[in-house]
Amino acid sequence: MATKPLVLIVEDEEALVTLLQYNFEKENYRVSLARNGQEAILLIDEMLPDLIILDWMLPEISGLELCRQLRSRTKTRNVPIIMLTARGEETDRIRGLDTGADDYITKPFSMTELLSRVRAVLRRIRPALAEDIVVYGELEVDRATHRVKRSGRDIPLGPTEFRLLDHLLQHPGRVFSRGQLLDAIWGTDVYVDERTVDVHIGRLRKALNAKGEHDPIRTVRSAGYALDDQFPH
Ligand code: CA
Repeated sequence: MATKPLVLIVEDEEALVTLLQYNFEKENYRVSLARNGQEAILLIDEMLPDLIILDWMLPEISGLELCRQLRSRTKTRNVPIIMLTARGEETDRIRGLDTGADDYITKPFSMTELLSRVRAVLRRIRPALAEDIVVYGELEVDRATHRVKRSGRDIPLGPTEFRLLDHLLQHPGRVFSRGQLLDAIWGTDVYVDERTVDVHIGRLRKALNAKGEHDPIRTVRSAGYALDDQFPH
């Protein structure tokens, strides 16, 4: 099973929050909720979302201001943002402003429309989250069947190795510490020694590079592992 994309909803209208949460969870997203900009920043520092639904009208920091702040931080610069705006008053301004949002939708909107915009943004910006088959250099990963190929050759992987590869593939170039990989693959409520990660990365490499090809996984000394974003050279 592929990792479910994490959507952060930043909205202060309770009724809308409930509706959004219900619909996103039904569509197999994980959801985190913030009622204002400060809460959003705290949640983002805890766990980086794959996409943010951001209301323009928020108490204290406005959605627009938060959007600018997120765009100016290295960590959140590339996280897709869809802004929610009120009909009429903001639409024209948003169009004319460089908000940094990837898309916006005017209230009241249909859930079907919002969900299709979300899929479109994810497909464009983070193809690994939206598609079943992900091609990355010589690698082809089918998330529906869990089959992996390298240059057309079948790569047999155990379930843990598959999930490790899938996780790295969702964020090419990003370095994950052993602790972060443990949380993402094994879960936060299981105690597993960090060396276990090294063992499974070792198995994954052995399978992927069986023909002595370039290693797509980079070891970053004292930091962790990353999928080489220069791959293939
Ligand atoms: Ca609002």
